[in-house]
Amino acid sequence: MPLTDILSRIRTAETAAGRAAGSVRLVAVSKLQPADRVAAVLRQGHRVYGENYVQEAQAKWPAWRTEFGPVEVHLVGPLQTNKAKAAVDLFDVIHSVDRASLAEKLARLAQARGASPALFVQVNTGAEPQKAGVLPDDLDGFLTTCRGMDLPLAGLMCIPPEGEDAAPHFTMLAGMAARNGLTGLSMGMSSDFEAAIAAGATHVRVGSAIFGARG
Ligand SMILES: *Cc1c(COP(=O)(O)O)cnc(C)c1O
Repeated sequence: MPLTDILSRIRTAETAAGRAAGSVRLVAVSKLQPADRVAAVLRQGHRVYGENYVQEAQAKWPAWRTEFGPVEVHLVGPLQTNKAKAAVDLFDVIHSVDRASLAEKLARLAQARGASPALFVQVNTGAEPQKAGVLPDDLDGFLTTCRGMDLPLAGLMCIPPEGEDAAPHFTMLAGMAARNGLTGLSMGMSSDFEAAIAAGATHVRVGSAIFGARG
Protein backbone atom coordinates (compact mmCIF):
# COMPACT_ATOMS: atom_id res chain seq x y z
CA MET A 1 0.00 0.00 0.00
CA PRO A 2 1.43 3.43 -0.87
CA LEU A 3 2.97 5.41 1.97
CA THR A 4 0.44 8.19 1.40
CA ASP A 5 -2.43 5.75 2.02
CA ILE A 6 -0.91 4.60 5.31
CA LEU A 7 -0.37 8.21 6.37
CA SER A 8 -3.97 9.10 5.56
CA ARG A 9 -5.26 6.05 7.47
CA ILE A 10 -3.21 7.23 10.45
CA ARG A 11 -4.65 10.73 10.11
CA THR A 12 -8.20 9.33 9.94
CA ALA A 13 -7.59 7.19 13.05
CA GLU A 14 -6.17 10.18 14.93
CA THR A 15 -9.25 12.22 14.12
CA ALA A 16 -11.63 9.38 14.99
CA ALA A 17 -9.94 9.08 18.39
CA GLY A 18 -10.20 12.83 18.98
CA ARG A 19 -6.44 13.17 18.85
CA ALA A 20 -4.38 15.92 17.28
CA ALA A 21 -3.25 15.41 13.69
CA GLY A 22 0.40 14.39 13.75
CA SER A 23 0.32 12.98 17.28
CA VAL A 24 1.23 9.51 15.99
CA ARG A 25 4.66 8.77 14.56
CA LEU A 26 4.91 6.23 11.76
CA VAL A 27 7.93 3.95 12.21
CA ALA A 28 8.29 2.27 8.80
CA VAL A 29 9.71 -1.17 9.62
CA SER A 30 12.19 -1.92 6.84
CA LYS A 31 13.75 -5.13 8.17
CA LEU A 32 14.46 -7.78 5.53
CA GLN A 33 13.06 -5.60 2.74
CA PRO A 34 14.78 -5.24 -0.63
CA ALA A 35 16.80 -2.03 -0.79
CA ASP A 36 14.87 -0.62 -3.74
CA ARG A 37 11.58 -0.68 -1.80
CA VAL A 38 13.11 1.19 1.13
CA ALA A 39 14.89 3.67 -1.13
CA ALA A 40 11.56 4.41 -2.83
CA VAL A 41 9.98 5.35 0.49
CA LEU A 42 13.05 7.42 1.40
CA ARG A 43 12.66 9.29 -1.88
CA GLN A 44 9.03 10.02 -0.96
CA GLY A 45 10.40 11.86 2.04
CA HIS A 46 9.73 9.49 4.93
CA ARG A 47 12.44 9.80 7.59
CA VAL A 48 11.52 7.40 10.42
CA TYR A 49 12.38 3.70 10.06
CA GLY A 50 12.46 0.59 12.24
CA GLU A 51 14.86 -2.34 12.15
CA ASN A 52 15.00 -5.65 14.02
CA TYR A 53 18.62 -6.68 13.65
CA VAL A 54 21.67 -4.62 14.61
CA GLN A 55 23.93 -6.10 11.93
CA GLU A 56 21.41 -5.67 9.14
CA ALA A 57 20.83 -2.05 10.16
CA GLN A 58 24.58 -1.36 10.36
CA ALA A 59 24.94 -2.57 6.80
CA LYS A 60 22.15 -0.37 5.45
CA TRP A 61 21.69 2.91 7.28
CA PRO A 62 25.07 4.67 7.26
CA ALA A 63 24.99 4.85 3.44
CA TRP A 64 21.33 5.91 3.32
CA ARG A 65 21.98 8.60 5.93
CA THR A 66 24.81 9.89 3.75
CA GLU A 67 22.58 9.88 0.70
CA PHE A 68 19.31 11.16 2.21
CA GLY A 69 20.42 13.19 5.23
CA PRO A 70 19.24 12.73 8.80
CA VAL A 71 17.02 9.67 9.19
CA GLU A 72 15.64 8.51 12.53
CA VAL A 73 16.28 4.77 12.87
CA HIS A 74 14.56 2.80 15.64
CA LEU A 75 15.51 -0.64 16.92
CA VAL A 76 12.23 -2.52 17.37
CA GLY A 77 13.66 -6.06 17.69
CA PRO A 78 15.31 -7.71 20.70
CA LEU A 79 18.76 -6.46 21.70
CA GLN A 80 21.55 -8.77 22.87
CA THR A 81 23.71 -7.16 25.53
CA ASN A 82 26.87 -7.73 23.48
CA LYS A 83 25.37 -5.64 20.67
CA ALA A 84 24.34 -2.76 22.93
CA LYS A 85 27.30 -0.56 22.04
CA ALA A 86 26.74 -0.95 18.31
CA ALA A 87 23.05 -0.26 18.90
CA VAL A 88 23.56 3.01 20.76
CA ASP A 89 26.00 4.12 18.07
CA LEU A 90 23.41 3.57 15.35
CA PHE A 91 19.87 3.97 16.67
CA ASP A 92 17.98 7.06 17.79
CA VAL A 93 15.40 5.04 19.69
CA ILE A 94 15.43 1.53 21.19
CA HIS A 95 11.99 -0.04 21.72
CA SER A 96 13.08 -3.31 23.33
CA VAL A 97 14.57 -2.69 26.79
CA ASP A 98 13.40 -5.80 28.62
CA ARG A 99 15.81 -6.83 31.37
CA ALA A 100 18.03 -5.42 34.08
CA SER A 101 21.32 -6.61 32.53
CA LEU A 102 20.52 -4.70 29.34
CA ALA A 103 19.39 -1.61 31.27
CA GLU A 104 22.67 -1.64 33.20
CA LYS A 105 24.70 -1.91 30.02
CA LEU A 106 22.75 0.93 28.37
CA ALA A 107 23.21 3.07 31.49
CA ARG A 108 26.99 2.51 31.43
CA LEU A 109 27.12 3.42 27.75
CA ALA A 110 24.97 6.52 28.33
CA GLN A 111 27.28 7.66 31.08
CA ALA A 112 30.40 7.16 29.00
CA ARG A 113 28.91 8.99 26.00
CA GLY A 114 26.92 11.66 27.80
CA ALA A 115 23.98 10.74 25.59
CA SER A 116 21.55 7.90 25.05
CA PRO A 117 18.95 6.88 22.53
CA ALA A 118 15.38 7.34 23.76
CA LEU A 119 14.25 4.08 25.36
CA PHE A 120 11.00 2.14 25.44
CA VAL A 121 10.49 -0.73 27.85
CA GLN A 122 8.97 -3.76 26.16
CA VAL A 123 6.14 -5.38 28.10
CA ASN A 124 5.05 -8.98 27.51
CA THR A 125 1.37 -8.11 27.95
CA GLY A 126 0.22 -11.64 27.11
CA ALA A 127 2.80 -13.21 29.48
CA GLU A 128 3.85 -15.52 26.63
CA PRO A 129 6.76 -17.74 27.66
CA GLN A 130 8.58 -17.47 24.31
CA LYS A 131 8.22 -13.72 23.98
CA ALA A 132 10.59 -10.99 25.15
CA GLY A 133 9.42 -8.27 27.46
CA VAL A 134 8.98 -7.52 31.12
CA LEU A 135 5.99 -9.30 32.67
CA PRO A 136 3.18 -6.94 33.67
CA ASP A 137 3.60 -7.80 37.36
CA ASP A 138 7.29 -6.94 37.25
CA LEU A 139 6.94 -3.69 35.31
CA ASP A 140 6.68 -1.09 38.07
CA GLY A 141 9.75 -2.50 39.83
CA PHE A 142 11.69 -2.63 36.57
CA LEU A 143 10.85 1.00 35.78
CA THR A 144 12.03 2.02 39.24
CA THR A 145 15.30 0.20 38.54
CA CYS A 146 15.69 2.00 35.19
CA ARG A 147 14.93 5.38 36.74
CA GLY A 148 17.52 4.70 39.41
CA MET A 149 20.05 4.45 36.58
CA ASP A 150 18.93 7.77 35.04
CA LEU A 151 17.88 6.07 31.82
CA PRO A 152 15.84 8.29 29.48
CA LEU A 153 12.54 6.39 29.39
CA ALA A 154 10.25 7.46 26.55
CA GLY A 155 7.49 4.94 27.14
CA LEU A 156 6.32 1.35 26.80
CA MET A 157 6.15 -1.05 23.87
CA CYS A 158 4.22 -4.29 23.30
CA ILE A 159 3.60 -6.98 20.70
CA PRO A 160 0.23 -8.61 21.47
CA PRO A 161 -0.12 -12.39 21.13
CA GLU A 162 -0.77 -13.55 17.58
CA GLY A 163 -4.32 -14.57 16.81
CA GLU A 164 -5.76 -12.66 19.74
CA ASP A 165 -7.70 -9.42 19.75
CA ALA A 166 -4.96 -6.84 20.22
CA ALA A 167 -7.18 -4.08 21.62
CA PRO A 168 -7.19 -5.27 25.27
CA HIS A 169 -3.39 -5.47 25.16
CA PHE A 170 -3.15 -1.93 23.85
CA THR A 171 -5.50 -0.71 26.58
CA MET A 172 -3.48 -2.57 29.21
CA LEU A 173 -0.23 -1.01 27.98
CA ALA A 174 -1.78 2.47 27.98
CA GLY A 175 -2.92 1.97 31.57
CA MET A 176 0.51 0.81 32.69
CA ALA A 177 2.15 3.82 31.03
CA ALA A 178 -0.29 6.29 32.58
CA ARG A 179 0.16 4.75 36.02
CA ASN A 180 3.92 5.22 35.68
CA GLY A 181 3.86 8.74 34.24
CA LEU A 182 5.12 7.66 30.80
CA THR A 183 3.71 9.27 27.67
CA GLY A 184 5.16 7.18 24.84
CA LEU A 185 3.24 4.13 23.58
CA SER A 186 4.86 2.01 20.86
CA MET A 187 2.10 -0.33 19.72
CA GLY A 188 0.28 -1.32 16.56
CA MET A 189 1.61 -3.03 13.42
CA SER A 190 0.29 -3.50 9.88
CA SER A 191 -2.82 -5.41 10.90
CA ASP A 192 -3.88 -3.39 13.92
CA PHE A 193 -2.36 0.09 13.94
CA GLU A 194 -5.74 1.82 13.83
CA ALA A 195 -6.88 -0.02 16.98
CA ALA A 196 -3.58 0.98 18.61
CA ILE A 197 -4.14 4.64 17.72
CA ALA A 198 -7.63 4.44 19.22
CA ALA A 199 -6.00 3.19 22.44
CA GLY A 200 -3.40 5.99 22.48
CA ALA A 201 -0.39 4.79 20.46
CA THR A 202 2.23 7.49 19.89
CA HIS A 203 4.42 5.24 17.69
CA VAL A 204 3.03 2.65 15.28
CA ARG A 205 5.47 0.15 13.76
CA VAL A 206 4.26 -0.70 10.28
CA GLY A 207 6.25 -2.90 7.91
CA SER A 208 4.54 -5.16 5.40
CA ALA A 209 1.59 -2.81 4.79
CA ILE A 210 4.07 -0.25 3.44
CA PHE A 211 6.77 -2.36 1.81
CA GLY A 212 4.97 -5.61 1.00
CA ALA A 213 5.76 -9.11 2.23
CA ARG A 214 9.29 -9.58 3.57
CA GLY A 215 11.74 -11.69 1.58
C1 LIG B 1 8.39 -6.88 12.03
C2 LIG B 1 7.89 -6.05 13.15
C3 LIG B 1 6.93 -5.04 12.95
C4 LIG B 1 6.25 -4.80 11.62
O1 LIG B 1 5.37 -5.83 11.38
P1 LIG B 1 4.33 -5.77 10.13
O2 LIG B 1 3.32 -6.78 10.48
O3 LIG B 1 5.12 -6.09 8.92
O4 LIG B 1 3.77 -4.40 10.10
C5 LIG B 1 6.60 -4.24 14.02
N1 LIG B 1 7.14 -4.43 15.25
C6 LIG B 1 8.06 -5.39 15.48
C7 LIG B 1 8.62 -5.54 16.83
C8 LIG B 1 8.44 -6.23 14.45
O5 LIG B 1 9.33 -7.21 14.70
